[in-house]
Amino acid sequence: MKNFFDVTKPTLSFEIFPPKREGELESVWTTVGALSCLDPDLISVTYGAGGSSRRNTADIAERIMTDYGIPTLAHLTCIGASKSEMTDILDNLASRGIENILALRGDMTEEGTKDFTYASDLIKFIKQNYDFKVFAACYPEKHIEAKTLEKDIEHLKEKCDLGVDMLVTQLFFDNDNFLRFRDKIARAGITCPIDVGIMPLSSAGQLERMCKMCGAQIPAKISKIAEAYGHNAMVIKEAGIMYATEQISELLSEGVTGIHLYTMNKPDIAEAICRNIRSILSSLKVRKSENK
Ligand code: FAD
Repeated sequence: MKNFFDVTKPTLSFEIFPPKREGELESVWTTVGALSCLDPDLISVTYGAGGSSRRNTADIAERIMTDYGIPTLAHLTCIGASKSEMTDILDNLASRGIENILALRGDMTEEGTKDFTYASDLIKFIKQNYDFKVFAACYPEKHIEAKTLEKDIEHLKEKCDLGVDMLVTQLFFDNDNFLRFRDKIARAGITCPIDVGIMPLSSAGQLERMCKMCGAQIPAKISKIAEAYGHNAMVIKEAGIMYATEQISELLSEGVTGIHLYTMNKPDIAEAICRNIRSILSSLKVRKSENK
Protein backbone atom coordinates (compact mmCIF):
# COMPACT_ATOMS: atom_id res chain seq x y z
CA MET A 1 0.00 0.00 0.00
CA LYS A 2 1.36 3.44 -0.89
CA ASN A 3 2.20 5.94 1.84
CA PHE A 4 0.03 9.03 1.52
CA PHE A 5 2.82 11.27 2.81
CA ASP A 6 5.36 9.99 0.28
CA VAL A 7 3.35 10.57 -2.91
CA THR A 8 5.42 12.74 -5.26
CA LYS A 9 2.61 14.60 -7.03
CA PRO A 10 -0.29 16.59 -5.61
CA THR A 11 -2.47 14.02 -3.88
CA LEU A 12 -6.03 13.18 -4.75
CA SER A 13 -8.26 11.98 -1.94
CA PHE A 14 -11.98 11.29 -1.61
CA GLU A 15 -14.42 11.65 1.26
CA ILE A 16 -17.23 9.15 1.63
CA PHE A 17 -19.83 8.72 4.37
CA PRO A 18 -21.25 5.54 5.92
CA PRO A 19 -24.91 5.00 5.04
CA LYS A 20 -27.23 6.45 7.66
CA ARG A 21 -29.56 3.46 7.83
CA GLU A 22 -28.80 -0.10 8.91
CA GLY A 23 -29.01 -2.48 5.96
CA GLU A 24 -27.62 0.02 3.44
CA LEU A 25 -23.99 -0.81 4.03
CA GLU A 26 -23.69 -2.73 0.76
CA SER A 27 -24.24 0.50 -1.22
CA VAL A 28 -21.01 1.93 0.15
CA TRP A 29 -19.02 -0.90 -1.43
CA THR A 30 -20.39 -0.01 -4.85
CA THR A 31 -19.16 3.54 -4.21
CA VAL A 32 -15.75 2.40 -2.95
CA GLY A 33 -15.37 -0.05 -5.84
CA ALA A 34 -15.96 2.72 -8.38
CA LEU A 35 -13.73 5.21 -6.54
CA SER A 36 -10.91 2.68 -6.20
CA CYS A 37 -10.66 2.54 -10.02
CA LEU A 38 -9.68 6.24 -9.94
CA ASP A 39 -6.48 5.33 -8.04
CA PRO A 40 -6.93 7.77 -5.12
CA ASP A 41 -4.07 8.38 -2.69
CA LEU A 42 -6.46 8.18 0.26
CA ILE A 43 -10.14 7.74 1.07
CA SER A 44 -11.57 9.38 4.17
CA VAL A 45 -14.63 8.08 6.00
CA THR A 46 -16.81 10.50 7.96
CA TYR A 47 -18.00 9.94 11.52
CA GLY A 48 -21.73 10.38 11.99
CA ALA A 49 -23.70 12.03 14.74
CA GLY A 50 -24.33 8.67 16.41
CA GLY A 51 -25.47 5.06 16.16
CA SER A 52 -24.53 2.54 13.53
CA SER A 53 -22.93 5.00 11.11
CA ARG A 54 -20.27 5.68 13.79
CA ARG A 55 -19.50 2.01 14.24
CA ASN A 56 -19.35 1.64 10.47
CA THR A 57 -16.61 4.27 10.09
CA ALA A 58 -13.94 1.94 11.49
CA ASP A 59 -15.25 -1.10 9.56
CA ILE A 60 -15.33 0.77 6.26
CA ALA A 61 -11.94 2.44 6.77
CA GLU A 62 -10.33 -0.90 7.61
CA ARG A 63 -11.83 -2.71 4.63
CA ILE A 64 -10.79 0.01 2.19
CA MET A 65 -7.21 -0.65 3.31
CA THR A 66 -7.31 -4.43 3.40
CA ASP A 67 -9.51 -5.16 0.36
CA TYR A 68 -8.51 -2.27 -1.90
CA GLY A 69 -4.98 -1.41 -0.68
CA ILE A 70 -5.89 2.28 -0.40
CA PRO A 71 -4.75 4.34 2.63
CA THR A 72 -7.67 5.56 4.73
CA LEU A 73 -8.41 8.45 7.03
CA ALA A 74 -10.95 7.81 9.79
CA HIS A 75 -12.82 10.94 10.91
CA LEU A 76 -13.38 11.12 14.66
CA THR A 77 -15.29 13.66 16.78
CA CYS A 78 -14.78 14.12 20.52
CA ILE A 79 -17.75 16.22 21.58
CA GLY A 80 -19.61 14.60 24.49
CA ALA A 81 -17.02 11.81 24.83
CA SER A 82 -15.14 10.85 27.99
CA LYS A 83 -11.44 10.02 27.97
CA SER A 84 -12.20 6.37 28.59
CA GLU A 85 -14.67 6.21 25.68
CA MET A 86 -12.12 7.90 23.42
CA THR A 87 -9.45 5.43 24.55
CA ASP A 88 -11.69 2.50 23.56
CA ILE A 89 -12.37 4.05 20.14
CA LEU A 90 -8.72 4.87 19.49
CA ASP A 91 -7.52 1.43 20.68
CA ASN A 92 -10.02 -0.14 18.29
CA LEU A 93 -8.81 2.01 15.35
CA ALA A 94 -5.17 1.18 16.15
CA SER A 95 -5.90 -2.56 16.42
CA ARG A 96 -7.41 -2.45 12.91
CA GLY A 97 -4.21 -0.96 11.51
CA ILE A 98 -5.74 2.45 10.75
CA GLU A 99 -2.93 5.00 10.56
CA ASN A 100 -4.61 8.35 9.91
CA ILE A 101 -7.24 10.16 11.99
CA LEU A 102 -9.05 13.41 11.24
CA ALA A 103 -9.39 14.74 14.79
CA LEU A 104 -12.48 16.91 15.11
CA ARG A 105 -14.55 18.47 17.83
CA GLY A 106 -17.85 17.82 16.04
CA ASP A 107 -20.83 20.14 15.89
CA MET A 108 -22.00 21.60 19.18
CA THR A 109 -24.95 19.74 20.72
CA GLU A 110 -27.30 20.61 23.59
CA GLU A 111 -25.45 18.15 25.82
CA GLY A 112 -22.26 20.17 25.24
CA THR A 113 -18.75 18.88 25.83
CA LYS A 114 -17.39 16.40 28.39
CA ASP A 115 -13.65 15.66 28.65
CA PHE A 116 -12.81 17.34 25.32
CA THR A 117 -13.82 20.96 24.74
CA TYR A 118 -12.09 21.56 21.42
CA ALA A 119 -10.49 19.47 18.70
CA SER A 120 -7.14 20.56 20.15
CA ASP A 121 -7.91 18.49 23.29
CA LEU A 122 -8.40 15.40 21.13
CA ILE A 123 -5.28 16.12 19.08
CA LYS A 124 -3.22 16.44 22.28
CA PHE A 125 -4.70 13.21 23.65
CA ILE A 126 -3.91 11.31 20.45
CA LYS A 127 -0.40 12.70 20.11
CA GLN A 128 0.38 11.85 23.76
CA ASN A 129 -0.92 8.29 23.64
CA TYR A 130 -0.85 6.98 20.07
CA ASP A 131 1.20 6.85 16.85
CA PHE A 132 -1.51 7.98 14.42
CA LYS A 133 -0.89 10.64 11.80
CA VAL A 134 -3.28 13.41 12.82
CA PHE A 135 -5.24 15.48 10.33
CA ALA A 136 -7.29 18.51 11.44
CA ALA A 137 -9.98 20.71 9.93
CA CYS A 138 -9.51 24.33 8.87
CA TYR A 139 -11.93 26.93 7.55
CA PRO A 140 -10.77 29.35 4.80
CA GLU A 141 -13.96 31.38 5.27
CA LYS A 142 -13.92 31.05 9.10
CA HIS A 143 -15.62 28.48 11.30
CA ILE A 144 -19.25 29.35 11.78
CA GLU A 145 -18.88 29.94 15.56
CA ALA A 146 -15.70 32.03 15.35
CA LYS A 147 -16.11 35.79 15.80
CA THR A 148 -13.35 36.63 13.34
CA LEU A 149 -11.12 34.75 10.92
CA GLU A 150 -8.11 36.03 12.87
CA LYS A 151 -9.38 34.40 16.12
CA ASP A 152 -10.11 31.19 14.24
CA ILE A 153 -6.56 31.19 12.87
CA GLU A 154 -5.18 31.68 16.40
CA HIS A 155 -7.02 28.50 17.44
CA LEU A 156 -5.87 26.73 14.29
CA LYS A 157 -2.28 27.58 15.23
CA GLU A 158 -2.85 25.99 18.66
CA LYS A 159 -3.98 22.79 16.92
CA CYS A 160 -1.02 22.79 14.54
CA ASP A 161 1.47 23.43 17.34
CA LEU A 162 0.34 20.14 18.90
CA GLY A 163 1.83 18.31 15.93
CA VAL A 164 -0.94 18.09 13.32
CA ASP A 165 0.42 16.36 10.22
CA MET A 166 -2.10 17.62 7.66
CA LEU A 167 -4.93 20.15 7.41
CA VAL A 168 -8.07 19.58 5.37
CA THR A 169 -10.21 22.57 4.47
CA GLN A 170 -13.92 23.04 4.70
CA LEU A 171 -15.52 23.32 1.26
CA PHE A 172 -15.28 26.69 -0.47
CA PHE A 173 -16.29 27.96 -3.89
CA ASP A 174 -14.18 31.11 -4.01
CA ASN A 175 -10.49 30.31 -4.60
CA ASP A 176 -9.44 33.87 -3.74
CA ASN A 177 -10.77 33.39 -0.20
CA PHE A 178 -8.68 30.24 0.13
CA LEU A 179 -5.54 31.91 -1.25
CA ARG A 180 -5.91 34.84 1.16
CA PHE A 181 -6.41 32.36 4.01
CA ARG A 182 -3.29 30.44 2.98
CA ASP A 183 -1.26 33.67 3.10
CA LYS A 184 -2.72 34.58 6.49
CA ILE A 185 -1.99 31.24 8.12
CA ALA A 186 1.54 31.29 6.71
CA ARG A 187 2.03 34.72 8.31
CA ALA A 188 0.67 33.24 11.58
CA GLY A 189 3.48 30.66 11.43
CA ILE A 190 1.39 27.66 10.36
CA THR A 191 3.50 25.40 8.15
CA CYS A 192 1.28 22.32 7.99
CA PRO A 193 0.51 21.04 4.46
CA ILE A 194 -3.10 21.62 3.40
CA ASP A 195 -5.49 19.49 1.38
CA VAL A 196 -8.24 21.59 -0.15
CA GLY A 197 -11.79 20.29 0.19
CA ILE A 198 -13.78 20.63 -3.02
CA MET A 199 -17.51 19.96 -3.14
CA PRO A 200 -18.85 19.60 -6.68
CA LEU A 201 -22.22 21.32 -6.97
CA SER A 202 -24.85 18.73 -7.83
CA SER A 203 -28.14 20.49 -7.08
CA ALA A 204 -29.38 23.96 -6.17
CA GLY A 205 -30.90 22.67 -2.90
CA GLN A 206 -27.60 21.05 -1.89
CA LEU A 207 -25.75 24.37 -2.35
CA GLU A 208 -28.05 26.31 -0.01
CA ARG A 209 -28.19 23.49 2.55
CA MET A 210 -24.45 22.82 2.73
CA CYS A 211 -23.41 26.46 2.81
CA LYS A 212 -25.94 27.31 5.52
CA MET A 213 -24.73 24.41 7.61
CA CYS A 214 -21.00 25.10 7.33
CA GLY A 215 -20.97 28.87 6.77
CA ALA A 216 -19.26 28.71 3.35
CA GLN A 217 -19.82 31.74 1.12
CA ILE A 218 -21.86 31.43 -2.07
CA PRO A 219 -20.13 33.59 -4.72
CA ALA A 220 -22.38 35.20 -7.36
CA LYS A 221 -20.79 33.02 -10.04
CA ILE A 222 -22.00 29.78 -8.45
CA SER A 223 -25.42 31.04 -7.35
CA LYS A 224 -26.03 32.12 -10.97
CA ILE A 225 -25.14 28.60 -12.14
CA ALA A 226 -27.52 27.10 -9.56
CA GLU A 227 -30.26 29.51 -10.60
CA ALA A 228 -29.83 28.99 -14.34
CA TYR A 229 -29.44 25.20 -14.39
CA GLY A 230 -31.08 24.10 -11.12
CA HIS A 231 -34.25 22.99 -12.90
CA ASN A 232 -32.42 20.20 -14.75
CA ALA A 233 -30.63 17.56 -12.65
CA MET A 234 -28.34 16.44 -15.47
CA VAL A 235 -27.35 19.95 -16.55
CA ILE A 236 -26.60 21.21 -13.03
CA LYS A 237 -24.45 18.14 -12.45
CA GLU A 238 -22.49 18.86 -15.64
CA ALA A 239 -22.11 22.52 -14.67
CA GLY A 240 -20.96 21.49 -11.17
CA ILE A 241 -18.32 19.20 -12.67
CA MET A 242 -17.07 22.04 -14.88
CA TYR A 243 -16.94 24.50 -11.97
CA ALA A 244 -15.06 22.04 -9.73
CA THR A 245 -12.63 21.22 -12.57
CA GLU A 246 -11.84 24.90 -13.11
CA GLN A 247 -11.52 25.48 -9.37
CA ILE A 248 -9.07 22.57 -9.00
CA SER A 249 -7.05 23.52 -12.06
CA GLU A 250 -6.56 27.05 -10.70
CA LEU A 251 -5.69 25.78 -7.21
CA LEU A 252 -3.07 23.41 -8.60
CA SER A 253 -1.55 26.25 -10.61
CA GLU A 254 -1.32 28.14 -7.29
CA GLY A 255 0.80 25.34 -5.81
CA VAL A 256 -1.85 23.45 -3.84
CA THR A 257 -0.47 20.02 -2.91
CA GLY A 258 -3.62 18.03 -2.22
CA ILE A 259 -7.17 17.87 -3.56
CA HIS A 260 -9.80 16.31 -1.31
CA LEU A 261 -13.07 15.69 -3.15
CA TYR A 262 -16.25 15.57 -1.13
CA THR A 263 -17.81 12.82 -3.25
CA MET A 264 -21.19 12.66 -1.45
CA ASN A 265 -20.96 8.94 -2.37
CA LYS A 266 -21.51 9.86 -6.04
CA PRO A 267 -18.63 8.18 -7.88
CA ASP A 268 -19.80 9.28 -11.35
CA ILE A 269 -19.15 12.93 -10.45
CA ALA A 270 -15.72 12.11 -8.99
CA GLU A 271 -14.98 10.06 -12.09
CA ALA A 272 -15.75 12.95 -14.46
CA ILE A 273 -13.64 15.40 -12.45
CA CYS A 274 -10.74 12.95 -12.27
CA ARG A 275 -10.83 12.46 -16.02
CA ASN A 276 -10.54 16.24 -16.42
CA ILE A 277 -7.69 16.79 -13.97
CA ARG A 278 -5.70 13.56 -14.25
CA SER A 279 -3.09 14.82 -16.72
CA ILE A 280 -2.63 18.09 -14.81
CA LEU A 281 -2.13 16.17 -11.57
CA SER A 282 0.40 13.75 -12.98
CA SER A 283 2.37 16.53 -14.67
CA LEU A 284 3.14 18.15 -11.30
CA LYS A 285 5.83 17.04 -8.89
CA VAL A 286 5.60 17.71 -5.17
CA ARG A 287 6.36 15.89 -1.96
CA LYS A 288 4.10 16.72 0.95
CA SER A 289 6.72 16.02 3.61
CA GLU A 290 9.05 18.56 1.95
CA ASN A 291 6.26 21.10 2.07
CA LYS A 292 6.18 21.12 5.86
P1 FAD B 1 -12.34 23.11 16.67
O1 FAD B 1 -11.02 23.15 16.03
O2 FAD B 1 -12.39 22.73 18.13
O3 FAD B 1 -13.02 24.56 16.49
C1 FAD B 1 -14.38 24.78 16.81
C2 FAD B 1 -14.58 26.25 17.16
O4 FAD B 1 -13.97 26.53 18.42
C3 FAD B 1 -13.94 27.23 16.17
O5 FAD B 1 -14.79 28.33 16.04
C4 FAD B 1 -12.63 27.61 16.83
O6 FAD B 1 -12.19 28.91 16.43
C5 FAD B 1 -13.01 27.59 18.30
N1 FAD B 1 -11.91 27.28 19.21
C6 FAD B 1 -10.97 26.33 19.05
N2 FAD B 1 -10.13 26.33 20.11
C7 FAD B 1 -10.56 27.31 20.95
C8 FAD B 1 -10.13 27.80 22.21
N3 FAD B 1 -9.03 27.30 22.83
N4 FAD B 1 -10.82 28.82 22.81
C9 FAD B 1 -11.93 29.34 22.20
N5 FAD B 1 -12.39 28.91 20.98
C10 FAD B 1 -11.71 27.90 20.38
N6 FAD B 1 -18.27 16.62 11.64
C11 FAD B 1 -18.73 15.37 12.00
O7 FAD B 1 -19.58 15.25 12.90
N7 FAD B 1 -18.23 14.25 11.38
C12 FAD B 1 -17.30 14.31 10.40
O8 FAD B 1 -16.88 13.27 9.87
C13 FAD B 1 -16.81 15.60 10.00
N8 FAD B 1 -15.86 15.73 9.05
C14 FAD B 1 -15.35 16.97 8.73
C15 FAD B 1 -14.33 17.06 7.78
C16 FAD B 1 -13.80 18.32 7.46
C17 FAD B 1 -12.68 18.40 6.46
C18 FAD B 1 -14.31 19.49 8.07
C19 FAD B 1 -13.76 20.84 7.70
C20 FAD B 1 -15.34 19.40 9.00
C21 FAD B 1 -15.86 18.15 9.35
N9 FAD B 1 -16.87 18.00 10.31
C22 FAD B 1 -17.35 16.76 10.67
C23 FAD B 1 -17.50 19.20 10.91
C24 FAD B 1 -16.83 19.63 12.24
O9 FAD B 1 -17.06 18.66 13.22
C25 FAD B 1 -17.44 20.97 12.63
O10 FAD B 1 -17.06 21.97 11.72
C26 FAD B 1 -17.23 21.42 14.07
O11 FAD B 1 -18.18 22.45 14.35
C27 FAD B 1 -15.85 21.97 14.39
O12 FAD B 1 -14.92 20.98 14.43
P2 FAD B 1 -13.33 21.36 14.53
O13 FAD B 1 -12.62 20.10 14.71
O14 FAD B 1 -12.95 22.26 13.46
O15 FAD B 1 -13.37 22.18 15.94
